Amino acid sequence: MVKIYTIASGKGGTGKTTVSINLGTMLAKLGKETYLIDADIGMANIGLILGLEDVPVTLHEILAGKNTIDEGIYNGPAGLKVIPSGISLQGFQQADPDKIRDVLSEIEKRCEFLIIDAPAGISKDGVVPLAVADEVILVVNPELPSIVDALKTKILTEVVGGHVLGAIINRVDQDTSEIISKKIEKVLGVKVIGIIPEDINVRRAAAARSPVIVKFPDSPASKAIQKIASDLAGITYKEEAEKVSSEGFVERFSKALFKKKSDKERH
Ligand code: ADP
Ligand code: MG
Repeated sequence: MVKIYTIASGKGGTGKTTVSINLGTMLAKLGKETYLIDADIGMANIGLILGLEDVPVTLHEILAGKNTIDEGIYNGPAGLKVIPSGISLQGFQQADPDKIRDVLSEIEKRCEFLIIDAPAGISKDGVVPLAVADEVILVVNPELPSIVDALKTKILTEVVGGHVLGAIINRVDQDTSEIISKKIEKVLGVKVIGIIPEDINVRRAAAARSPVIVKFPDSPASKAIQKIASDLAGITYKEEAEKVSSEGFVERFSKALFKKKSDKERH
């Protein structure tokens, strides 16, 4: 059965696109058939960050009725299927946001997980993703304006019949994470399902046109995202197990060799 997650925030710039791309990639890496759609049709970013900005067909053309959904699906990292939005203003003007619901219901037939990168604010194209998702995930920064906007988005989600699973706090200073987490749970009235630290590697990966979990899998932000994705997929996240399995042959071989040597020395 498909599970649809909408990544929303209210305020722009909280990390929705970063979370969407990396969660989607991680779910794909875990072997789940995962689709990622850029429903932020006004301020599309996914194409830019994944190096898909020059593709001929985007969600704009699909929403304009010019192309089929199949023509706008591209291969992303780790087998993730990506439907980017276009970056041209003209394309945006021609896109009909009323068609988003049909596009989403067509895509959900094909996958196990559908991740929707939602636009900021309260627009027509932003409300549909809140309503059609099985679960809405709020991305919040540890600052008052972001928390207030997330609260508005939570209320809006409930008004349109959607459900909020919880909040991800992004760009957290690790020393304050526990206090801020409790505060956000209290103000928003939802569970905090993940805490992603402020991590320079997020920007470095974006500049290299790659999800941070692919480019820098051991970075603090990547580990946090891996844990959230594992929880969503119902898989127990084991940092150490993950590390061992990702080690190359040479590393494992030299470790085994070293172990044998030191065992002998002990005798
Ligand atoms: P949104 O989609 O909500 O507008 P983005 O995902 O585009 O937000 O993130 C906004 C900016 O913040 C980007 O430049 C991104 O690289 C940066 N960013 C996001 N999360 C982190 C993080 N955990 N650490 C450092 N920079 C981050
Ligand atoms: Mg975005």
